[in-house]
Amino acid sequence: ECDLIILSVGLEAESGIGIDMQTGANGFMQVAHPKLRPVEAPTDGVFIAGCASGPKDIQTSIAQAAAAASKVKTLLTDDHLEIDPMSAHVDADKCIGCAICMSVCKFESIRMVHGKAVVDELACKGCGSCSAACPRGAIEPYMHTDAQILSQVRTLTKNECPLIIAFLCNWCAYACADLTGVLHIRYPTNIRVIRVMCAGRVNPGFVLEAFRCGADGVLVAGCKISECHYIHGNVNAEHRMAALSGLLAGVGIDAARLRVEWIDASESKRFVEIVSGFVDELKGIGPIGSELPV
Ligand code: SF4
Ligand code: SF4
Repeated sequence: ECDLIILSVGLEAESGIGIDMQTGANGFMQVAHPKLRPVEAPTDGVFIAGCASGPKDIQTSIAQAAAAASKVKTLLTDDHLEIDPMSAHVDADKCIGCAICMSVCKFESIRMVHGKAVVDELACKGCGSCSAACPRGAIEPYMHTDAQILSQVRTLTKNECPLIIAFLCNWCAYACADLTGVLHIRYPTNIRVIRVMCAGRVNPGFVLEAFRCGADGVLVAGCKISECHYIHGNVNAEHRMAALSGLLAGVGIDAARLRVEWIDASESKRFVEIVSGFVDELKGIGPIGSELPV
């Protein structure tokens, strides 16, 4: 006796088909966002339908093909092209040509010209992952610059204990905090929110500066893994914050003061639990600096 019989063999992605497309962990072509842009590739003007992005039934494949065709038609018939003004740019004087930014950018918006990084501002999405990775501070978005973010960090006065500085990604974590407020759901006032386009924008230097300015805890939160609006921005953030976490003890900061969370825009209840739980944990650790020997 069983509840369900599936009369279908498993599908495997075909490799080596001669098209240079980004693929996900299972080998299928990667879409820009599984919910919001399911037939668009991360690269503008490239569309994906049906089983190219993963196993699907015929009805879904047909619906996706119609959606992709409609997007292509719109693209070809419009007499102008709208682009997002969010993009990054390079200070060639600071750039040492290490190409780290190029390896981080999943939109292939960066190329090296005469040993310097150059951003294709039409293809760039302005996520800022490249900026957080650059060892020389040579690349950053036009908006949400390092100086702007650091100035917000420094302005957040320590009038609560514990005080949490939270870097929240625009699309999920910030939207979730916003929704929580709109729904009049209460959460501790100990949190000060800084909006960033992507969790991948958070430079470890921002976190250290927050601690230097007296924050008792830092929260970095973004979209759930595999749902990042910038493909791998949250994965980059996860790796960066894990590396930073391993270094915090060396400078006398309890690693538990840095928390990383992935959250949906609709998860208000969870957002409250995360903030409340972090506040309680920080109360147990004590104010920043209390772990240092007297
Ligand atoms: S990571 Fe920074 S220094 Fe290295 S190539 Fe890119 S912009 Fe230049
Ligand atoms: S990593 Fe993001 S901000 Fe940097 S060039 Fe690529 S798309 Fe633009």
